[in-house]
Amino acid sequence: SNKTLTATNPANDKVLNEYATLSKDEVQQKLEQTRTAYPQYRQLSLEDRAKRLHALADLIDQRQQDIATLIAHEMGKPYQQGISETQISSSIARFYADNLPTLMETEQRDVEGAVRAKIVKDPIGAVLGVMPWNYPLYQVIRFATPALAGGNVCLMKHASNVPGCAELITQLFHEAGFEDGVFTWLPVGSEMIEDIINDPVVQGVTLTGSEEAGRKVAEQAGAALKPSVLELGGIDPLIVLDDADIERAVDLAIAGRFDNTGQSCAASKRLIVDKSIAEDFSRRLIEKVKDMRMDDPLSEGVDIGPMSRKDLRDDLHDQVQRAIKAGAKLECGGEIPDREGAWYPPTVLTNVTQGNPAFNEELFGPVASVVVAENEAHAIELANDCPYGLGSTVVAKDDERGERVSRQLEAGMSFVNRPTTPFAQLPFGGVKGSGYGREQSEYGFGAFMNIRTVYVA
Ligand code: NDP
Repeated sequence: SNKTLTATNPANDKVLNEYATLSKDEVQQKLEQTRTAYPQYRQLSLEDRAKRLHALADLIDQRQQDIATLIAHEMGKPYQQGISETQISSSIARFYADNLPTLMETEQRDVEGAVRAKIVKDPIGAVLGVMPWNYPLYQVIRFATPALAGGNVCLMKHASNVPGCAELITQLFHEAGFEDGVFTWLPVGSEMIEDIINDPVVQGVTLTGSEEAGRKVAEQAGAALKPSVLELGGIDPLIVLDDADIERAVDLAIAGRFDNTGQSCAASKRLIVDKSIAEDFSRRLIEKVKDMRMDDPLSEGVDIGPMSRKDLRDDLHDQVQRAIKAGAKLECGGEIPDREGAWYPPTVLTNVTQGNPAFNEELFGPVASVVVAENEAHAIELANDCPYGLGSTVVAKDDERGERVSRQLEAGMSFVNRPTTPFAQLPFGGVKGSGYGREQSEYGFGAFMNIRTVYVA
């Protein structure tokens, strides 16, 4: 196969590196290696598995500057945000290392007729992760560390635009003791995925990415009767209730919407603001967004980097233009700057209403959409008028009221007075079009385990 994966710096369009993809035969060899490695790896003691996960966490911490720099080069993430990504990543690896004895614990049940009845947790085989470019390290850690903790082995298909990250991450796993066969990078295009899913060694598939990719991969997994976890997009609401501190609400909205240059599945994509404070909120939001610094992701104090790819930037601009045509008001940004690279300025749209593309579609970039709600009940109704249900935020002075409102939202994650944020201890995932299954916490651990009944009469 002569196909290559090309890493391009989205800040200046310069090609960074090219990687050859694997031929069909080479993929077969990798799958054979995985087949051989699995029965050996699953025999490792919990202590040995935990030791490797700790080594991985330590390596991520030690190499955080290299990792953040490479992420900045390959997908444009501002450096400090790359450092944060390494921190959540090492914390997840540590969480599974530290909690492994509890997670693997055999439970005893008192059952009629049984001398002993137990629930035992066993691994299932290889878990294939189909990964996106937006958090190139965190996404991989999130799928691979619970799988490896449980005694499964991992195959990684990373996004085609971050092959350097895929290579570095693989080196870190190998250095930590998860050798080839236990953690394996498959540099392949998406056309190879179906054959890989059909291989008997693969017993589970997890994908983070677009609805389209999720649908295809889940169809293939379904046809092969293999379990899948899908973490697709969202058009998450951030509701600002009438009692909210406006300044604080604006800061939370900016963090929730513009972090990672707006390219997060659980970003606050619709800012739903109570009518009584909407004008004030919008004015202050626009002021602050105009002050944001868009610059080279490796320069100091930058808020916004380039988007990850030009094609995605062009799609976003098309959505913004359609939103304006449908009645949204462009307050700032909204123009492609005259420079090389995949730049798009921080943008605010107001007067976004139900049916507008900025309300109905996922805008995967630095565009904030302000939606005005008549009152609390209307805000909830607007929030739930959405094909997705990933994260959500409610901003309120009265946090009990905030929690009450958040509980009425159709979402897998509800935050009060904080943007949706991943924590190793808390499940991550959504409902409706956002996919199914959970990552992180004990639920992410259980996703690809054989939770097995053992009954002795
Ligand atoms: P994709 O969903 O296409 O990419 C995610 C991963 O899926 C990549 O590894 C990709 O491989 C792979 N993939 C894509 N199609 C298939 C397929 N048919 N079979 C198997 N694997 C497949 O995302 P894009 O990069 O194209 O971004 C498009 C949009 O997706 C974004 O604008 C955003 O809306 C959404 N997205 C959501 C993310 C999230 O966190 N939920 C993350 C990234 C994107 P390859 O790169 O080789 O095509």
